[in-house]
Amino acid sequence: MSKSGAPRPAIFRPCLIIWPTWARKFRHEFTLGLIENEEEELREIDAALERLEKGTFGTCERCKEAIPRSRLKIIPTPKLCIECKRGEEHEPPTATA
Ligand SMILES: [Zn+2]
Repeated sequence: MSKSGAPRPAIFRPCLIIWPTWARKFRHEFTLGLIENEEEELREIDAALERLEKGTFGTCERCKEAIPRSRLKIIPTPKLCIECKRGEEHEPPTATA
């Protein structure tokens, strides 16, 4: 069951160039018309930018596997791979303030 566990950042190189520009533009647009729901999105973007700086962007936070590019195209700020995300959805939600 062990695939190569090592993340391959080279795969994400095009993302690393295009994505931050896109994210900052996106973030700016969000800041202009901020509502509660968008605030959540903003946090996601900030967290993703942070992961980008740390070099962990594109790596699943739970299983540490590389998140497939196909997923990054759909959701640009994923913390988890599809399998871990599915697992999370089956768990009861953590305290909703
Ligand atoms: Zn995962």
